[in-house]
Amino acid sequence: METFDVAVIGAGIAGITAARDLSKKGFSVVLLEARDRVGGRTYLEKGLGDVIELGGAYVHWTQPHVWNELYRHGISLLPPLTARKAYWLADGTVHSGTEEEYYEVVGPAMKQLFADARERFPLPFMINAVDNSDIERESIEDRINSLGLSAYHRDVLDGALAGVVHKHRDHGIAQLLHCVATYFGDYNAFFETAGTWAIEGGTKRLIDAILSESTARIRLSTPVSAIEDRGSKVSITTRAGQKILVRSAIVAVPLNTLGDIKITPSLPHAVRNMIEQKNPVMASKIWVRVRGEIEGFAAFAPIGKHPINAARTERYHDGDTLIMCICSDAAAIRADNREAVQAALQRFVPTIEVVDTASYSWAEDEFSKGGWMMHRPGHLTGGAAQIRQGHGRIHFAGSDIAGLEAGAIEGAMGSAVAAARDVAAALANPDTSLSIARPHM
Ligand SMILES: Cc1cc2nc3c(=O)[nH]c(=O)nc-3n(C[C@H](O)[C@H](O)[C@H](O)COP(=O)(O)OP(=O)(O)OC[C@H]3O[C@@H](n4cnc5c(N)ncnc54)[C@H](O)[C@@H]3O)c2cc1C
Repeated sequence: METFDVAVIGAGIAGITAARDLSKKGFSVVLLEARDRVGGRTYLEKGLGDVIELGGAYVHWTQPHVWNELYRHGISLLPPLTARKAYWLADGTVHSGTEEEYYEVVGPAMKQLFADARERFPLPFMINAVDNSDIERESIEDRINSLGLSAYHRDVLDGALAGVVHKHRDHGIAQLLHCVATYFGDYNAFFETAGTWAIEGGTKRLIDAILSESTARIRLSTPVSAIEDRGSKVSITTRAGQKILVRSAIVAVPLNTLGDIKITPSLPHAVRNMIEQKNPVMASKIWVRVRGEIEGFAAFAPIGKHPINAARTERYHDGDTLIMCICSDAAAIRADNREAVQAALQRFVPTIEVVDTASYSWAEDEFSKGGWMMHRPGHLTGGAAQIRQGHGRIHFAGSDIAGLEAGAIEGAMGSAVAAARDVAAALANPDTSLSIARPHM
């Protein structure tokens, strides 16, 4: 049987970061990845005659872990095209104006929605600093219903949130409040960090830079089926039946695939509950190439009232324009149905002519089974906070369970740095308790 100090399961941003950190410290590390590629829910691929980010793409210099990596490796950021015009579907009509005019319309409802964000999460890095059990029972829908908005303003608000949410009744309000609290109580600031600046050279360049500093052994096409903490060792079983013995493991797979791995001893109740209820986000990102260099725009539509909920001109390429679209519900439109995509975009800009489309089905992929994380009520401060404390010799990382920046590349990286630090500390002192000597974050 093969042995290593540490097995890291899942080679997304979290897994490769944890494997790199531990291998740099001198531990022998095996990185077990189910797919035949690394990167997980980040995926830079050829498409539309260019290269496009099919998964996570946007990061920011205010994100400490991401920026540290980019800065050290001399990688810059690129903004999208300036959006000269905004379109928003509200009360059955498409309205338009400058971006400033759009923000004036949506601003007051946003302020109302997030009025208590900083009070609820005064120390965003310590998610349970105050008792939020009451809002952890509240869905986004409950919160919006309580604002007393007109039908028009409700649609405007729904549309503004649609790029990050799947269905308002499925998500807790807590994660959105926490995201906004992290960025000084300002939704626009949060949104700029989450969805504006792309990595020069793409996520693959960042991943290659991290891997260039790693000596971890990478095993692709190796899904893990079971992990057992046997007291002094952890046994890893792959789907192919291979067994690997390690001193500690870091599990860095999406929440929606965690239930496919048998973990022994069984996880605490709140964690199992979160795994069973899953991440509800079944959204899709569709890239569209349209004829000609059109004027930059951004468009917003409420969930359930239009198949494309957010669209933005991203860049010009070879005389055409590439548009990035988010569909809150991937099932609402097929990316390869160019006529449907064209009709959906023409609702905002009637002259648009679609040349080509590209997308990736994260909801149907058995190793993601969904998109980015947006927790159901109760899990942000419950199961996710609990699983970050580790489970004996089995530790967890990944954007889906991150404390800061859950659902983002930054969250994946930050949680991996913490898990690698905990594992390194435990392995350096094998005779002491494995409990983690740090504040619960
Ligand atoms: C369409 C889309 C757009 C997004 N946009 C942004 C954005 O602009 N900015 C941003 O910050 N974030 C964005 N995100 C979110 C971001 O991409 C993810 O949160 C982040 O990449 C997740 O990293 P991770 O390492 O935690 O998980 P993953 O990247 O999901 O990595 C987990 C790995 O585990 C592997 N795995 C699963 N099961 C097993 C198993 N049984 N055995 C072994 N391996 C297994 C998977 O194949 C995968 O490689 C987006 C996500 C999507 C889907």
